[in-house]
Amino acid sequence: MNNVFDAEGLDHGVIIVGAGVSGIYQLYRLREAGIDATVIEAGSGPGGTWYWNRYPGARFDSESYSYGYSFSDELLQEWSWSEHFAGQPETQKYLNYVVDKFDLRRDMQFNCRVSAARFDEAECRWIVCLEDGRELTCRILLTAIGMLSAATMPRIEGVQDFEGEAFHTYYWPREPVDLAGKRVAVIGTGATGVQVISEIADKVKSLTVYQRRPNWCAPLHNSPIDDVTQAKIKASFEQIFAKCRSTPGGFLHGPDPRSFNEVSPRDRQALWEELYASPGFGVWIGNFREVLMQEGPNAEYSTFIADKIRKRVKDPETAEKLIPQDHGFGTRRVPLETRYYEAYNRDNVELVDVTETPIERITSGGIRTSEGERLFDLIVYATGFDAITGAFDRIDITGVGGRKLRDKWDDGPVTYLGLQVSEFPNLMILAGPQGGSVSTNFPRGIEEAVDWLTDLIIHMRDTGSDRVEPQPDAEHMWAEHVKDAYRYSLFQTARSWFTGYNSNVPGRDRMRYLIYNGGSPRYRKWLADVADDGYRGFDITG
Ligand code: NAP
Repeated sequence: MNNVFDAEGLDHGVIIVGAGVSGIYQLYRLREAGIDATVIEAGSGPGGTWYWNRYPGARFDSESYSYGYSFSDELLQEWSWSEHFAGQPETQKYLNYVVDKFDLRRDMQFNCRVSAARFDEAECRWIVCLEDGRELTCRILLTAIGMLSAATMPRIEGVQDFEGEAFHTYYWPREPVDLAGKRVAVIGTGATGVQVISEIADKVKSLTVYQRRPNWCAPLHNSPIDDVTQAKIKASFEQIFAKCRSTPGGFLHGPDPRSFNEVSPRDRQALWEELYASPGFGVWIGNFREVLMQEGPNAEYSTFIADKIRKRVKDPETAEKLIPQDHGFGTRRVPLETRYYEAYNRDNVELVDVTETPIERITSGGIRTSEGERLFDLIVYATGFDAITGAFDRIDITGVGGRKLRDKWDDGPVTYLGLQVSEFPNLMILAGPQGGSVSTNFPRGIEEAVDWLTDLIIHMRDTGSDRVEPQPDAEHMWAEHVKDAYRYSLFQTARSWFTGYNSNVPGRDRMRYLIYNGGSPRYRKWLADVADDGYRGFDITG
């Protein structure tokens, strides 16, 4: 049988776009299966999110040892994380280490950005166009372009006029930025802004934070990993990954098994105190299930957290501004922080609530609100991303009959299992909309998706099939299932990237069903059932 991935007219069997956490592992698996693949990466090195986001304070809020790859025992034993929640430089170093250990760099092309890709029906292949003018052909186009990789600047007049330094956090320069003695503004208080603010508050002359809507934040409680703990971690990876497999988010934290109402108010408080004092995401997802599903329990917990904020911020007026009013705790992504609220107790830090005094424009010297102009040396835009679909929109992807992915998804994305889209045969998606990995501890979810897609590609090779495409009915079913899962969580009550909102992108300030909220165990079962049932819902032909 001819190898459908090694045919005439193909530069590569598979082209993987992106050398981040997903692209690295996908290349490893395809290499292992003997399938020719190459990675195209816009950055000058591997790492994806951890390559780009070099802003001060960038770090995990998954436990480091629950975030690393699980596929190689040797790697697990060789690599020692220095902190429970590692910083960006260490994570970038780790991903480079993985790439070198498994000799993956030789199949990675850096400093190349994909501008377009079109499906060539006659030859059943993708033609991938790079910004440098090259065109490469492949049987399978596999996007590993990240869910938070299309950074968005605010739509504020004058952004180009500022004459000082200014960066979006995603594009923080590689060269060290001298902060000492500078007057700095940060716009945005999501997970990124919160990390930057906490990190730089004591390093700059003055820090002015422009906040639109506050988020509910809680302490990370990071610490170094000592030798004894390191040894224990290395001896218990089996249990660590088993635990991650058992929880809805793929984290070491899962919901409390008790129901909210069966526990007395006193015991609830005791649990909440314990969660607030514990490292990591327990404070968000280690709670009673009802807290993220029902208004009453959510309001009670939100009050508990609001009181914590009031205790940590000295000025009562500032404290009230930092307490969210428009959404309950955990209905948007909870930023984990290290002395974030205490930053506002410093004399050199000031909070500007832009709902009270809106930003009118960026000037050549700083920022002008309805209250007047302030001058800055550096403006940091921590203004987020055109999440999940934004990175796809930047590539002109054309499927069967000239169909554009951008147009197909304009009203909201549709996929089958978050992995494929009808009318776009042989396009495989990692970390795109409606997939299981997006709402989980990322590497845990992504390893499963990569393994599953690799098995599908091997199946195609072994059966001599050169084309795979989901059936429209299957896609419709999945879109409804994804939508339905939102009904059970309070996520749908809040405007955030979880629900597809971005005020800085025309047409995106509205609800879209981007994320699979059914939990990892259920998603894993879907994948297994579909494969066991002969890849139910996919047309595999050739
Ligand atoms: P984000 O959560 O979308 O936050 C963007 C912030 O910018 C929000 O506070 C937003 O205000 C504000 N903003 C946007 N446009 C604005 C405008 N025109 N005027 C004023 N304010 C504006 O983005 P992010 O903080 O970069 O985080 C995105 C995601 O990245 C996180 O949710 C998380 O999943 C991931 N992340 C992870 C880590 C980690 O692993 N530790 C760290 C950082 C980020 P509104 O809320 O009012 O829209």
